[in-house]
Amino acid sequence: MQHDRPNSPAARDVAYHFHPYTDARAHEEQGPLIITKGAGCTVTDDSGKQYIEGMAGLWCTALGYGQERLIQAAERQLRELAYYHSFAHKVPPSVIELSETLLGIAPGKMGKVAYANSGSEANDTAVKFVWYYNNALGRREKKKIISRKRGYHGITIASGSLTGIPKNHLDFDLPIEGVRHTGCPHYHAEAHAGESEEAFSQRLADELDQLIQDEGPETVAAMIAEPVMGAGGVVIPPAGYWKKVQAVLKKHDVLLIADEVICGFGRTGQMFGCQTFGIEPDMVTCAKALSSAYVPISAIMMRDEIYQAIADNTHKIGTFAHGFTYSGHPVAAAVALETLKIYEEMDIAARARDLSPHLQDGLRAYADHPLVGEVRGVGLIAGVELLADKATRTPFDPVGKVGGYLDARCRDHGVILRNMGDTLAFCPPLVIEPKQIDEIVAAFGRALEETWDWVQREGLA
Ligand code: PMP
Repeated sequence: MQHDRPNSPAARDVAYHFHPYTDARAHEEQGPLIITKGAGCTVTDDSGKQYIEGMAGLWCTALGYGQERLIQAAERQLRELAYYHSFAHKVPPSVIELSETLLGIAPGKMGKVAYANSGSEANDTAVKFVWYYNNALGRREKKKIISRKRGYHGITIASGSLTGIPKNHLDFDLPIEGVRHTGCPHYHAEAHAGESEEAFSQRLADELDQLIQDEGPETVAAMIAEPVMGAGGVVIPPAGYWKKVQAVLKKHDVLLIADEVICGFGRTGQMFGCQTFGIEPDMVTCAKALSSAYVPISAIMMRDEIYQAIADNTHKIGTFAHGFTYSGHPVAAAVALETLKIYEEMDIAARARDLSPHLQDGLRAYADHPLVGEVRGVGLIAGVELLADKATRTPFDPVGKVGGYLDARCRDHGVILRNMGDTLAFCPPLVIEPKQIDEIVAAFGRALEETWDWVQREGLA
């Protein structure tokens, strides 16, 4: 059969490539935005237009683009040993070094680290560790995992089930059995009139307590949670939330898995979100900024006590029958190790703390804008939520239309952000300069005005 080969890169993308997180039919109409180059905190498209990276890719390129040391670390490792695995007692040296370094900075008391390639794989692996652990302890009923509405933990079968966002379940036949979702700690959206943050946190902790009791504590193994929810709309936990939630989990002997995939490595102003919010996790998953996204790598850390029970069990059958071909890829490990060295030298968490007011105060200047329902954030992560009616906290209908318009206007003004529904997310590289933050904030302001004009023209509010 004779095919007419499409000839522009955009036409070829439409012809051949199925995009993740994209409306496939809309893509056939509008085609791709082809990003060809990255330098520092900017990227360039194929027409030569430059954008500031307001979202660090997908919350991940913490050191921006073109970091020579990361490029060299990858090249050195590729020449020395491009691949080896860690099955059956083998290991490349870069993985040993990374493991020691990572455990040295980890929150809580982590005793061992395992590797995967993405946040989703890390969270799936964490679930398997938890199940295996409880089987090792002879607690065969204790398997359910609690997650939260609007939590994001990935898209594989287990992690996609943990994710508490309806679109991630709809028509994918998820969630799987044994996953429960408890309330989202979004004070501004969920608190009753007159309820204090502490009272709201207590209500959520009580709800969690009730859920565990209803299920039967002997059936509930773990709770997974992001210290700050990212993809669910940048939700900052209200006062007292983590203290109260952890007390409930302790009471019922339920493990806490901290999903640090976004928060890890300085984003919230401490090395880990757990440290910012006083969380003592039993397991920690991380990815993204672990290698500043230069190569895929993720990690699963666990307390020694969990390791000890698992280790005994592996000894009985002579293996732990889990691991990816690329668990602890030497090139990814070498790049991650160099990334962690740069973080330490720069004191990356202090940098996020220092720059934080610049971003947060800059965005809060828009809090009184008629479209803006809430500005929220911590460290160098923030969200601006648009509402149709601020006084009654009424969202736009449909959710996402106005957010999408604003996102596109920001792009016109040379800033890449991302709308999650009607919340615009900000998560710039941690190496961003104050001047670039100013540019992001100013471009956002112009785009907000244009969006307001459009909303009024269209009669949307
Ligand atoms: N957990 C969190 C908190 C995330 O933000 C993400 C990705 N945005 C994931 C897990 C899944 O990571 P990945 O896309 O690498 O599978």
